[in-house]
Amino acid sequence: MTGGAGFLGSHLCEQLLSQGHSVLCVDNYFTGSRKNIEHLLGNPNFEAMRHDVTFPLYVEVDEIYNLACPASPVHYQFDPVQTTKTSVIGAINMLGLAKRVRAKVFQASTSEVYGDPEVHPQPEEYWGRVNPIGFRSCYDEGKRCAETLFFDYRRQHNMPIKVVRIFNTYGPRMHPNDGRVVSNLIMQALSGEDVTLYGDGNQTRSFCYVDDLIRGFIALMGTEDAVTGPINIGNPGEFTIRQLAELVLELTGSSSKLVYRPLPPDDPRQRRPDITKAKAVLGWEPTVQLRDGVERTIQYFRNQL
Ligand code: NAD
Ligand code: UDP
Ligand code: UDP
Repeated sequence: MTGGAGFLGSHLCEQLLSQGHSVLCVDNYFTGSRKNIEHLLGNPNFEAMRHDVTFPLYVEVDEIYNLACPASPVHYQFDPVQTTKTSVIGAINMLGLAKRVRAKVFQASTSEVYGDPEVHPQPEEYWGRVNPIGFRSCYDEGKRCAETLFFDYRRQHNMPIKVVRIFNTYGPRMHPNDGRVVSNLIMQALSGEDVTLYGDGNQTRSFCYVDDLIRGFIALMGTEDAVTGPINIGNPGEFTIRQLAELVLELTGSSSKLVYRPLPPDDPRQRRPDITKAKAVLGWEPTVQLRDGVERTIQYFRNQL
C-alpha cells in the first residue's frame, strides 16, 4: 500500500492485517506519520518502508493499493508540482510494478475529478467540470491523469485495475491541521477558537465515515477482473457546511462562535455521490450516520488534545 501511513491508509493497513494479509506500507511521511501506524509495527505481517512513489519501486506483491497523495487543499497546494508528480509519476510507477509482478492495482481517485459539477448528484458517467489551470488543478488534473493511465494500462496490457472515486471522508487519524473541514471545525470547537465558515457556509458536501469507506475499498479489490470502476464510494447524505458546524458545536458543547471567511477559489458549490453502482456491483452502502461518525471523531481529537 502506498500512502499507508496516512489517514485512510492506516485504517486500510489495519483492516487488511486483521483479515490475515501481509502488508508493506510505503510512505514518504509528507502528510502521514509513523504515529498512525505505530500500533501495527509489532505485527510480523506488517512492514513500513520510507519511499517516495515518484521514484521506481521494485518489490514483490500480489495486490497494490495506491493511496499516496496529499488530500487536503492546504497540503496539496503547498508544493503543487510535487502533487502532480505524485499522482502521475506515482501512478506510472505503481502500474509498472503491477505489470511486472502481475498484481491487481487499485487507485484512490477522488470526487474532485468531477470538479465544480453541473450534474447533481454525480454519477460515474459524468465527465466533470474542472479548471485545468487553477489552485486545485494540481490535485484534480493529477488524479484525472492517473485515471487515464490506469485505463490505458488496462487497454494496452490487459491488467486488472480497480479505480475508486472517494467522496469526502472523515474519522479518527485525520491530520489535525490539514485544513479539511471536519478536522478544522472540531479542533476549533474543542480549543474554543472561532469556527470558520468559508463563503456563506451554504455549499454542500457529503461526508463518509472512514470505516464505511474502507469496507468499500476491500469489496472493490475482491471483485472479478471485469470490474474496473471507476466507482463512487461515499455517503449520499448531503449537508451544508453550516449544518456541519452547528452539529460540531452541539456535540462538543463548545461555546465557539461561527465566523465567516472568504471562499477559496474554485471551491465546489455542491457535491453528493450517486452510489447506485456501488450498491449494485459491490452490495455496498454506508451505515454510519453523520452524527455518530462526528461523535467518534470528536472523541479521537479530544484524546489527542
Ligand atoms: P493523507 O494525506 O492522510 O494520506 C496520504 C498519504 O500519502 C500520506 O501518508 C502521505 O505521507 C503519503 N504521500 C504523499 N505523497 C507521497 C509520495 N510522493 N510518496 C509516498 N507517499 C506519499 O490523506 P488521505 O485522506 O488518507 O488520502 C488518501 C488517498 O485518498 C489520497 O490519494 C487522496 O487523494 C484520496 N482521497 C481522500 C479523500 C478524503 O476525503 N480523505 C477524498 C478523496 C480522495
Ligand atoms: N517500475 C517500478 N517497479 C517495477 C517496474 C516498473 O517502479 O517493478 C516503474 C519504472 O520506473 C517504469 C515505470 O514503472 O519506468 C513504468 O513501467 P512500464 O513497464 O510500464 O514502462 P517502462 O518505462 O519500463 O517501459
Ligand atoms: N471549509 C470551511 N471551513 C473550514 C474548512 C473548510 O467552510 O475551516 C469549507 C471549504 O471551503 C469547502 C468545504 O468546507 O467548501 C470542504 O472543504 P475541505 O477542504 O474539507 O474539502 P474539499 O473542498 O476538498 O471538498
